[in-house]
This record gives sequence, C-alpha cells and structure tokens, in this order.
Amino acid sequence: MSLIETEGLVLKTYNLAEADRIVLFLTHEHGLIRGVAKGAKRLKSKFGSGLEPYSVVRLSYFQKDAVELVSIQHVELLRSYFSFAADPQVLRKLAYLADQLTAITPPNDPNQDLYRLVKACLDASSQTPDRLEDISVYFELWLLRLGGYLPDWTRCERCRRTLALSEKANLQTNFQLVCGECGPARSSMRVSEATRELFSMIQRSSPLHFAESMSDKVQETGELSEILRRIFATAIGRDVMASKGGILSN
Ligand SMILES: [Zn+2]
Repeated sequence: MSLIETEGLVLKTYNLAEADRIVLFLTHEHGLIRGVAKGAKRLKSKFGSGLEPYSVVRLSYFQKDAVELVSIQHVELLRSYFSFAADPQVLRKLAYLADQLTAITPPNDPNQDLYRLVKACLDASSQTPDRLEDISVYFELWLLRLGGYLPDWTRCERCRRTLALSEKANLQTNFQLVCGECGPARSSMRVSEATRELFSMIQRSSPLHFAESMSDKVQETGELSEILRRIFATAIGRDVMASKGGILSN
C-alpha cells in the first residue's frame, strides 16, 4: 500500500456511516478516484473545508488496489470555487456536468488534458458567470473530444472532400457530415453554418476566450448543444439526467 500525493478537484461527496464521507475526486495524475474521508462529517474534522465540492486541493491517500476505495489522509485547500457554486442554478449545472464527466471517464485513468479542461472551464465560469451556458457547451464538446467520441466535421464522410462552412452539410445518424452532392441521406438533418462555426471555434479557443467572444454575439448554442447531447447519449448508452443538485444536502 503506497501513499500517493497529487492535486485534485472535489467533484462530489456522499455520506457514509456515522462520521465518514465518500469523496469523488478528479486528480491531476491519477484520473477519477473515490475515497473515504474518515471523520469528515465531524464539526472539527481535519479536512476542514477542503472537501466542499469544487475545491481544488493537494491531497494524499493510501491505495490498496484499483478496485477499492482509497483512504484519504490529508487535504490542503488550494482554491475554492464554493462561493461561485453557491448559486443553486450554477450548482445544478456543475453537478450535471460532473455527472457527464463521471459517466464518460473510466476511474483510475490518468488524463491530464481532462484535468486542465475542467479547471480552465471552472476558472472561465467563475470569471464570466453569465456565460455559464456557453462554457457548458464548450465543456461537453471537449469532453467528447478527449474521450474520442467527437466526429470530424471538416470533411464529407463519403467523398472525403473538405467542407466549406458556407456549403450544405447533412448530419448522419453516426453524427458525421456528408456534403450536398453525396447526401442527403434519409433521416439526416441540415447542420447550420452557425453551428459548424461554433463547433470549430470551440476547438480553437480557450474556454475564457470562447465565453468572452460569445458575449458580444447573439449566437445560438442550442442546436450544437442538442447534437452534443445525442452524441453523448450514444457514447454512454443513456441520457445523463439533469442532476437535482443534491450533492450538498447529504
Ligand atoms: Zn461528399
């Protein structure tokens, strides 16, 4: 059994027997881990406020094997997003995104790009809280891309020709695009130029830059958001239901 030290973000906590809590972390070096924090529910816990959801902490834990819960030894709070997340609407959205992340990410699978993505999106959201919906779409798209589920919308899937933004493109049931000459397939739908531009822009921008550029545009993320939701449901085999935000209530 070895003591592991890493930086991590608290995604969720659950009550366990008596004074203990189970905590789900996304860590910088070891991916998603679930651990037991002994005595965390006591008023004078050694963990202090370091186990509040959306705290960035330096943590150390013992791990026996990849299957069992780790045993959390120590957390040191590095940064808290708690005041930003205290708004019930923000909290619901963050809990929903955390559920998506958990659904698509295998445990104990190191992914530093994913960790950077989550932190950059939290930072951007706390700096531009009125753009939370845009940043959510940004996050969902990147979550799919890092998981290897994002289609390539730069080319027609059939003739492999590069698609100009201005030309017609039809969405297939496998979420790839075909050009006007090759399609449209039955059951396909047109994807608007604005949606394809957003799709491309998100992959070229940081979340903060994306959020700021959306504030002076009246651009619709609705169509993209709906397509991403369908790709996501196909990837994990079910819809992630909107969370009720109960992560703090127990
Ligand atoms: Zn084509």
